[in-house]
Amino acid sequence: MAIPDSFQYDAVVIGGGPAGLQAALTLGRVHRRTLLLDAGSYRNDPAHHMHNFLAHDGTPPAELRAAARTDLARYDTVTVRDTAAASVGRDGDGFRVVVGDQEVTSRGLVLATGLRDTLPAVPGLGGLFGDVVAHCPFCHGHELAGTRVAVLGDPGHVGGLMGPVAASVEGVDPERVVRLERAADGLRVLFDDGTVEEYGGMFVATALSQAAPFAEQLGLAMLPSGCVSVDAMGRTSVAGVHAAGDMAHVPELPMPMASVLTAAASGLVAGAAMAAYLL
Ligand SMILES: Cc1cc2nc3c(=O)[nH]c(=O)nc-3n(C[C@H](O)[C@H](O)[C@H](O)COP(=O)(O)OP(=O)(O)OC[C@H]3O[C@@H](n4cnc5c(N)ncnc54)[C@H](O)[C@@H]3O)c2cc1C
Repeated sequence: MAIPDSFQYDAVVIGGGPAGLQAALTLGRVHRRTLLLDAGSYRNDPAHHMHNFLAHDGTPPAELRAAARTDLARYDTVTVRDTAAASVGRDGDGFRVVVGDQEVTSRGLVLATGLRDTLPAVPGLGGLFGDVVAHCPFCHGHELAGTRVAVLGDPGHVGGLMGPVAASVEGVDPERVVRLERAADGLRVLFDDGTVEEYGGMFVATALSQAAPFAEQLGLAMLPSGCVSVDAMGRTSVAGVHAAGDMAHVPELPMPMASVLTAAASGLVAGAAMAAYLL
């Protein structure tokens, strides 16, 4: 049984993507008073389908989140609010979270606010991202099987991964691209010398940044990747603050293994570790 105290919640989970939803489910199953806050914007918003998640390969991301919300509704101690947290800070042995013009308090925090992608500044690219332009061969490579695939910049690692999938993989110099356009079977690249090439799809590297300011507000230790440093249990450098999903990773990894399944798995670990912390 949770220890009664003056805090409104045992844990506030900030983020309603796969990491936050799973963390809340894990806490709910041991009847911890949990508040989940969801600002309603998700990293895979540009994509209509998600892949590489067993039993959900091809499921629309919104469908998975809706099913997870249905799961959470069965747990009386879990409250879900579709609203953004504005700021977080310490409150004695716990934390306070500003939500609109209110403040809520909790003994622990699970941050699962994700990352934001900034795309290369190429005209037309934004409207194609998540569709015929992608960043991850594991998520979107198979859908381009047998086609001519472009990589914006040096094909490098992505080129190697796509080698057995694509008919061919070609690097495209971003300095030479005037515009990208949708084509009947992929996209069209318009070059500065007037030439035009068609591809089944294109891969781009995006610049990643934290989607929310809470790591900075709490002074959490960060990694060179721009993600929060966590241990194997999702614990950050501040006791009582755990982090999961794309926004965090262990220092042994160069970057988060950013996928829906790994986000959910790390949410489970961070939620379980939070339940242990609350003991
Ligand atoms: C275009 C694209 C396609 C992808 N396709 C795939 C795929 O096919 N398969 C796959 O496995 N992975 C895919 N990914 C990766 C996948 O989207 C992420 O790994 C996954 O969403 C990470 O989950 P998360 O819970 O950490 O973050 P997110 O899903 O981004 O969720 C972040 C949550 O934090 C909330 N939030 C942020 N700030 C606040 C705040 N101030 N207050 C309250 N809530 C806040 C947001 O509203 C959201 O609920 C794709 C990514 C992109 C960019």
